[in-house]
Amino acid sequence: MMTELKQRVYEQNLALAKSGLVVLTWGNVSAIDREKGLVVIKPSGIPYDKLTVEDMVVVDFITRKAVNKKLRPSSDLMTHLYLYDAFPEINAVVHTHSPNATAWAQAGEGIPAYGTTHADTFYGSVPCTRAMLKEEVENNYEWNTGRVIAETFKSLDYKAIPAVLVKNHGPFTWGATPEEAVANAIALEEVAKMAIVTRQIKADTPVIDSLLLDKHYFHKHGKNSAYGQK
Ligand SMILES: [Zn+2]
Repeated sequence: MMTELKQRVYEQNLALAKSGLVVLTWGNVSAIDREKGLVVIKPSGIPYDKLTVEDMVVVDFITRKAVNKKLRPSSDLMTHLYLYDAFPEINAVVHTHSPNATAWAQAGEGIPAYGTTHADTFYGSVPCTRAMLKEEVENNYEWNTGRVIAETFKSLDYKAIPAVLVKNHGPFTWGATPEEAVANAIALEEVAKMAIVTRQIKADTPVIDSLLLDKHYFHKHGKNSAYGQK
Protein backbone atom coordinates (compact mmCIF):
# COMPACT_ATOMS: atom_id res chain seq x y z
CA MET A 1 0.00 0.00 0.00
CA MET A 2 1.26 3.47 -0.95
CA THR A 3 4.58 2.00 -2.16
CA GLU A 4 5.66 4.99 -4.24
CA LEU A 5 4.80 7.70 -1.70
CA LYS A 6 6.40 5.66 1.11
CA GLN A 7 9.59 5.44 -0.94
CA ARG A 8 9.64 9.20 -1.59
CA VAL A 9 8.89 10.11 2.03
CA TYR A 10 11.61 7.67 3.17
CA GLU A 11 14.14 9.18 0.75
CA GLN A 12 13.31 12.74 1.79
CA ASN A 13 13.63 11.87 5.48
CA LEU A 14 17.13 10.58 4.68
CA ALA A 15 17.82 13.68 2.55
CA LEU A 16 16.84 15.83 5.51
CA ALA A 17 19.28 13.96 7.78
CA LYS A 18 22.03 14.24 5.14
CA SER A 19 21.42 17.98 4.69
CA GLY A 20 22.74 18.57 8.21
CA LEU A 21 19.45 20.16 9.31
CA VAL A 22 18.67 17.34 11.71
CA VAL A 23 20.58 15.69 14.55
CA LEU A 24 19.44 12.62 16.51
CA THR A 25 15.80 12.04 15.49
CA TRP A 26 14.73 15.71 15.57
CA GLY A 27 12.98 16.02 12.27
CA ASN A 28 10.28 14.52 10.12
CA VAL A 29 8.87 14.56 6.63
CA SER A 30 5.34 13.56 5.68
CA ALA A 31 3.30 13.58 2.46
CA ILE A 32 -0.37 13.18 1.64
CA ASP A 33 -2.15 11.35 -1.19
CA ARG A 34 -5.27 13.52 -1.27
CA GLU A 35 -7.17 11.20 -3.62
CA LYS A 36 -6.69 8.20 -1.34
CA GLY A 37 -6.98 10.26 1.85
CA LEU A 38 -3.77 8.76 3.25
CA VAL A 39 -0.74 10.40 4.86
CA VAL A 40 2.74 8.84 5.02
CA ILE A 41 5.02 9.97 7.87
CA LYS A 42 8.25 8.96 9.54
CA PRO A 43 7.85 6.69 12.57
CA SER A 44 8.57 8.09 16.04
CA GLY A 45 12.06 7.84 17.52
CA ILE A 46 13.77 5.55 14.98
CA PRO A 47 17.34 6.69 14.18
CA TYR A 48 17.80 7.71 10.53
CA ASP A 49 20.47 5.05 9.92
CA LYS A 50 18.07 2.32 11.07
CA LEU A 51 15.09 3.61 9.08
CA THR A 52 13.64 1.46 6.26
CA VAL A 53 10.94 2.19 3.65
CA GLU A 54 8.68 -0.31 5.37
CA ASP A 55 8.93 1.65 8.64
CA MET A 56 7.02 4.60 7.09
CA VAL A 57 3.67 4.88 8.85
CA VAL A 58 0.49 5.25 6.79
CA VAL A 59 -2.25 7.27 8.50
CA ASP A 60 -5.89 7.72 7.47
CA PHE A 61 -6.41 11.49 7.01
CA ILE A 62 -10.01 11.39 8.24
CA THR A 63 -9.83 9.02 11.22
CA ARG A 64 -6.23 10.17 12.05
CA LYS A 65 -5.37 6.56 12.88
CA ALA A 66 -2.42 4.56 11.58
CA VAL A 67 -3.46 2.06 8.92
CA ASN A 68 -0.33 -0.12 9.14
CA LYS A 69 -0.04 -0.66 12.86
CA LYS A 70 3.61 -1.73 13.11
CA LEU A 71 5.22 1.47 14.39
CA ARG A 72 3.91 4.64 16.04
CA PRO A 73 3.92 7.72 13.81
CA SER A 74 6.09 10.76 14.59
CA SER A 75 4.77 12.63 17.62
CA ASP A 76 4.30 15.67 15.36
CA LEU A 77 1.69 13.82 13.26
CA MET A 78 -1.23 15.94 14.48
CA THR A 79 0.51 19.17 13.46
CA HIS A 80 1.09 17.74 9.98
CA LEU A 81 -2.58 16.66 9.73
CA TYR A 82 -3.79 20.08 10.85
CA LEU A 83 -1.68 21.74 8.13
CA TYR A 84 -3.01 19.41 5.40
CA ASP A 85 -6.50 20.41 6.46
CA ALA A 86 -5.80 24.16 6.73
CA PHE A 87 -3.63 24.44 3.58
CA PRO A 88 -5.51 22.46 0.90
CA GLU A 89 -2.90 22.94 -1.83
CA ILE A 90 0.11 21.49 -0.01
CA ASN A 91 1.05 17.80 -0.25
CA ALA A 92 4.08 17.57 2.04
CA VAL A 93 5.22 18.94 5.40
CA VAL A 94 8.70 19.07 6.97
CA HIS A 95 9.63 19.81 10.57
CA THR A 96 13.16 20.31 11.89
CA HIS A 97 14.99 21.99 14.75
CA SER A 98 17.64 23.36 12.38
CA PRO A 99 19.72 25.68 14.58
CA ASN A 100 19.50 29.06 12.84
CA ALA A 101 15.79 28.93 12.05
CA THR A 102 15.17 27.62 15.57
CA ALA A 103 17.18 30.52 17.03
CA TRP A 104 14.73 32.97 15.39
CA ALA A 105 11.81 30.90 16.71
CA GLN A 106 13.30 31.03 20.20
CA ALA A 107 13.72 34.79 19.93
CA GLY A 108 10.06 34.94 18.86
CA GLU A 109 10.86 36.88 15.72
CA GLY A 110 10.07 36.28 12.07
CA ILE A 111 12.95 36.15 9.57
CA PRO A 112 13.07 39.45 7.65
CA ALA A 113 13.45 39.27 3.88
CA TYR A 114 16.84 40.96 3.67
CA GLY A 115 17.92 39.84 0.22
CA THR A 116 17.40 37.98 -3.00
CA THR A 117 18.38 34.59 -1.55
CA HIS A 118 15.36 34.93 0.70
CA ALA A 119 13.16 36.31 -2.10
CA ASP A 120 13.97 33.36 -4.38
CA THR A 121 11.96 31.07 -2.07
CA PHE A 122 9.90 33.21 0.32
CA TYR A 123 7.76 36.13 -0.83
CA GLY A 124 8.29 38.27 2.26
CA SER A 125 9.33 37.74 5.87
CA VAL A 126 8.85 34.25 7.29
CA PRO A 127 6.47 34.76 10.23
CA CYS A 128 6.75 33.52 13.79
CA THR A 129 3.61 32.31 15.57
CA ARG A 130 2.23 33.78 18.77
CA ALA A 131 3.05 32.02 22.04
CA MET A 132 0.77 29.09 22.80
CA LEU A 133 -1.64 29.46 25.70
CA LYS A 134 -1.47 27.27 28.80
CA GLU A 135 -4.52 25.25 27.78
CA GLU A 136 -3.17 24.84 24.24
CA VAL A 137 0.03 23.35 25.65
CA GLU A 138 -1.70 21.14 28.21
CA ASN A 139 -4.29 19.60 25.87
CA ASN A 140 -3.82 18.46 22.27
CA TYR A 141 -0.50 20.29 22.06
CA GLU A 142 0.52 19.04 18.59
CA TRP A 143 -2.94 19.73 17.12
CA ASN A 144 -2.90 23.24 18.63
CA THR A 145 0.57 23.81 17.17
CA GLY A 146 -1.06 23.35 13.76
CA ARG A 147 -3.83 25.71 14.79
CA VAL A 148 -1.48 28.59 15.73
CA ILE A 149 0.38 28.10 12.44
CA ALA A 150 -2.87 28.33 10.46
CA GLU A 151 -3.85 31.39 12.53
CA THR A 152 -0.53 33.06 11.62
CA PHE A 153 -1.40 32.63 7.92
CA LYS A 154 -4.90 34.12 8.16
CA SER A 155 -3.73 37.18 6.24
CA LEU A 156 -0.70 35.60 4.53
CA ASP A 157 -0.41 33.38 1.45
CA TYR A 158 0.85 29.94 2.53
CA LYS A 159 1.93 29.12 -1.02
CA ALA A 160 4.03 32.29 -1.39
CA ILE A 161 5.64 31.83 2.05
CA PRO A 162 5.97 28.05 2.50
CA ALA A 163 7.47 28.21 6.01
CA VAL A 164 6.75 29.29 9.56
CA LEU A 165 8.56 29.49 12.88
CA VAL A 166 6.65 28.14 15.85
CA LYS A 167 7.55 30.37 18.80
CA ASN A 168 10.04 28.78 21.24
CA HIS A 169 9.98 25.62 19.12
CA GLY A 170 11.22 25.61 15.52
CA PRO A 171 10.42 25.68 11.83
CA PHE A 172 7.82 23.89 9.72
CA THR A 173 7.96 24.07 5.92
CA TRP A 174 5.68 22.66 3.24
CA GLY A 175 5.36 22.24 -0.49
CA ALA A 176 3.61 20.58 -3.39
CA THR A 177 5.92 17.54 -3.08
CA PRO A 178 8.16 16.04 -0.35
CA GLU A 179 11.21 17.09 -2.40
CA GLU A 180 10.00 20.70 -2.50
CA ALA A 181 9.15 20.80 1.21
CA VAL A 182 12.67 19.55 2.09
CA ALA A 183 14.27 22.08 -0.31
CA ASN A 184 12.25 24.80 1.45
CA ALA A 185 13.56 23.62 4.85
CA ILE A 186 17.14 23.83 3.54
CA ALA A 187 16.52 27.30 2.02
CA LEU A 188 14.92 28.47 5.28
CA GLU A 189 17.94 27.44 7.35
CA GLU A 190 20.30 29.25 4.97
CA VAL A 191 18.32 32.51 4.97
CA ALA A 192 17.95 32.28 8.76
CA LYS A 193 21.75 32.06 9.05
CA MET A 194 22.30 34.97 6.63
CA ALA A 195 19.74 37.13 8.42
CA ILE A 196 21.51 36.63 11.76
CA VAL A 197 24.85 37.69 10.27
CA THR A 198 23.20 40.63 8.45
CA ARG A 199 21.85 41.89 11.76
CA GLN A 200 25.22 41.43 13.42
CA ILE A 201 26.84 43.60 10.76
CA LYS A 202 24.08 46.22 10.81
CA ALA A 203 21.29 45.89 13.36
CA ASP A 204 18.89 48.22 11.55
CA THR A 205 19.33 46.75 8.07
CA PRO A 206 16.13 47.47 6.10
CA VAL A 207 14.29 44.65 4.33
CA ILE A 208 14.71 44.20 0.59
CA ASP A 209 12.70 46.68 -1.48
CA SER A 210 9.55 45.37 -3.10
CA LEU A 211 10.89 45.80 -6.65
CA LEU A 212 13.74 43.33 -6.02
CA LEU A 213 11.52 41.04 -3.93
CA ASP A 214 9.05 40.79 -6.84
CA LYS A 215 11.80 40.44 -9.42
CA HIS A 216 13.36 37.44 -7.65
CA TYR A 217 10.24 35.71 -6.36
CA PHE A 218 8.39 35.89 -9.68
CA HIS A 219 11.48 34.85 -11.62
CA LYS A 220 11.13 31.42 -10.01
CA HIS A 221 7.40 31.23 -9.20
CA GLY A 222 4.09 31.73 -10.93
CA LYS A 223 2.99 31.72 -14.54
CA ASN A 224 5.70 34.10 -15.78
CA SER A 225 8.53 32.16 -14.17
CA ALA A 226 11.67 32.08 -16.31
CA TYR A 227 13.84 29.89 -14.07
CA GLY A 228 15.21 26.48 -15.04
CA GLN A 229 14.70 24.58 -18.31
CA LYS A 230 11.51 24.51 -20.39
ZN1 LIG B 1 9.80 19.86 17.16
